Amino acid sequence: MTLLSVDQARQRILSHFQPVTTETLPLTGCSNRVLAQDIRAANDLPPFDNSSMDGFAVRAEDVKEAAAASPRSLRVIADIPAGSHPTVSLGAGEAARIMTGAPTPPGADAVVPVEDTDFNNRDAGTPAPGEVRIFKPAEPGANIRPRGMDIRAGNIVLQKGRTLRPQDLGLLAMLGLGRVPVHRKPRVALFSSGDELLDVDAPLEQGKIRDSNSYTLAALIEEAGAEVIRLGVAKDNEEAVKSLLEKAVQLNVDLILSSAGVSVGAFDFVKQVIESDGRVDFWRVNMRPGKPVAFGEYGRLPFIGLPGNPVSAFVGFEVFVRGALQRLRGSSDGVRPTVQVRCEEQIDSDGRESYLRAQIREENGSFLARLTGHQGSGNLHSLVQANALLIIPAGVKCVPAGEELQAWLI
Ligand code: AMP
Ligand code: MG
Repeated sequence: MTLLSVDQARQRILSHFQPVTTETLPLTGCSNRVLAQDIRAANDLPPFDNSSMDGFAVRAEDVKEAAAASPRSLRVIADIPAGSHPTVSLGAGEAARIMTGAPTPPGADAVVPVEDTDFNNRDAGTPAPGEVRIFKPAEPGANIRPRGMDIRAGNIVLQKGRTLRPQDLGLLAMLGLGRVPVHRKPRVALFSSGDELLDVDAPLEQGKIRDSNSYTLAALIEEAGAEVIRLGVAKDNEEAVKSLLEKAVQLNVDLILSSAGVSVGAFDFVKQVIESDGRVDFWRVNMRPGKPVAFGEYGRLPFIGLPGNPVSAFVGFEVFVRGALQRLRGSSDGVRPTVQVRCEEQIDSDGRESYLRAQIREENGSFLARLTGHQGSGNLHSLVQANALLIIPAGVKCVPAGEELQAWLI
């Protein structure tokens, strides 16, 4: 059997996932959720012409000859605070004091900031003057934010499939949309496997290590916008693995994710149980690290078995699981941001598509990359020191110093 390429494996996985159902939530619960419908503006924004300055609403015509040496005097006929609705119309030689965000009155076509008048007094409670002297001309439209300058009613302002960011929520609020349709969070059941695994609080024992994958993976799942249900650790036997898989089935999760036990070892029971009671689609991919990655189904639920080595589990998540979660949550975003980097050293590879831990830094507008620490897949510290995964394409055995590669920012 020839090994699947990373891309073939990724496509096979992705083709099994569809967006989860939607729900309508108040905006306070929508941060980082994925919008399930296009959003159209029901009104213009801003909804009315308004002043962008504290100053005086004027007719530009009246002040076109104004200068510090020969100010134009205008009669102040109204005072317009934010939130009011001016009805009085400016005639020739008239002005109205106006505050930032207040609607400009009919007749006015410019606002002169207080700094350009003889009434530069903004203390709270100061009454408007009866008359104001203007020191500078104002172009028609000056300091007025016209209705609809930001958004026109009827336009699509946020598209379906978009992950909602804080500023998106602000815009939805501006449009009066207090509840919006979003996809529910996908639910992921997570377990580790291995007789050697200790709980994080347990003292070290001979031959044992602490289960770190469940912490890394749970955080990755949550960061990717899904909910994690931690099922704990399965011992290296059929019954233990089966019992956690059955739990996941009862919970009817959207994805079962495990680490370890999918290799070719005599104690790798995870793959074996999935094979006998479910279906294994593939269990090896031509990549490094992370070759033993399994994909299949158990109890009709999709299953991804990541390798046990901590770096391989992380890389496997980035390469395969993140995309699946994006699809489940209805997101049209890609995966990690990618940048072009220049290698500062020669990098040898073995011809598999490789995801190497690197530290990248910016110099004169380009990114330079250096590998971190020991690249063995058990060395988590080198991943902790990395801020990027360097991607060495399949078939490449040597990347000379100075060559460019793609990297994912992590
Ligand atoms: P396996 O895939 O079961 O052969 O495990 C490969 C390597 O990953 C072994 O060195 C395991 O001890 C290690 N490993 C497996 N699971 C975990 C885990 N949850 N946390 C940290 N290391 C693990
Ligand atoms: Mg094991």
